[in-house]
Amino acid sequence: MEFIKQSEKQMLELIEKIVNIDSGSYDKEGIDQVGNVLIEQYEKLGFTVERHENENHGDNLVLQHKEAKDPKVLILAHMDTVFPKGTAEERPFSIKDGRAYGPGVVDMQSSLVSVIYAIKGLQEENNDAYKNVQIVLNSDEEIGSPTSRELIEQLSEGKQYALVMESGRANGAIVSARRGGGGYTLTVKGKAAHSGVAPEDGISAVEELAHKIIKLEQLNDHENGIAINVGIINGGAATNMIPDYAKAEIDVRITREDQGPVIDQKIKDICATSDVPGTELTLEGGINRPPLELNDRNKELLQIVKEVGSSIGVTIEDVHTGGGSDASFPSALGVATIDGLGPVGGELHNENEYMVIETLTERCNLLAHLIAELSL
Ligand SMILES: [Zn+2]
Repeated sequence: MEFIKQSEKQMLELIEKIVNIDSGSYDKEGIDQVGNVLIEQYEKLGFTVERHENENHGDNLVLQHKEAKDPKVLILAHMDTVFPKGTAEERPFSIKDGRAYGPGVVDMQSSLVSVIYAIKGLQEENNDAYKNVQIVLNSDEEIGSPTSRELIEQLSEGKQYALVMESGRANGAIVSARRGGGGYTLTVKGKAAHSGVAPEDGISAVEELAHKIIKLEQLNDHENGIAINVGIINGGAATNMIPDYAKAEIDVRITREDQGPVIDQKIKDICATSDVPGTELTLEGGINRPPLELNDRNKELLQIVKEVGSSIGVTIEDVHTGGGSDASFPSALGVATIDGLGPVGGELHNENEYMVIETLTERCNLLAHLIAELSL
């Protein structure tokens, strides 16, 4: 669409504006500020906003055109980033050698702008397809969507398609499958004692945790796509003290939905009894994201994306990735879902994060055509 192709400069200006607002997942003020900038844009396009207020996180926003009736396409994009307050001031939005930089530039502030310009593009062409979308802008995707998951699941009901705006991969591919997973915290309580004076009085929480680490790691089954990582451990206070405290943080990834309850039960079983008599174990957490599986529905949608791509001269490959996203939620509820529709970039979640500028209008144009195609 000609309008989109000519909008690169305006899009970059808007991206600069929101990248330069700190909006880490715990920064309510910043995320709400980003939300307000976006709402202002949407209101100009005739969209109405439903604000789901959040006390500790940014408000979650649901937007649709005022003349929309029962939209069939759900678009998911998140406003939060992984970066702490002060990052935007430290290294604000910048452009170098065809790439844009800055905190959250491709995950996913550029995607937020791409959705707005896809809608604008459709309006410029008098294509009513923009009335067929409902857009969720959530505030907590980077921490597992604790306050927005239910909302996304509610809105998935009755939808035909879900388009998820995580960035395109560094090689340009969109995302057709993702692992699901969750996280656990295991806390062990023992009994402190001086290791020289009265070691027999102590009960070692660290020793107990060591047994559990070995057992948990043995649940790894890479052949079937199950990964358990005891990534952080803590415990003890001094070398001459029998430690009365130890803690482990555990990351779990699964590839198929049915693996979730099975692995959850195995972890609970391991942590249900002590190996070191007298220790007490507390396990918190669970599986919080189903995987995005490439089922028949999603395959069909993937095919449509590829066809739309080739009709506008963009070759679309797809990849499977280990990282989670909100795409899992609509997909698990039977909505045809595809992810990675944002502009292309790389080095997500670190200071070298970048967005490839030439893909900005390209992916926006793809999104606009895709919405049109799905609304025929
Ligand atoms: Zn993201």
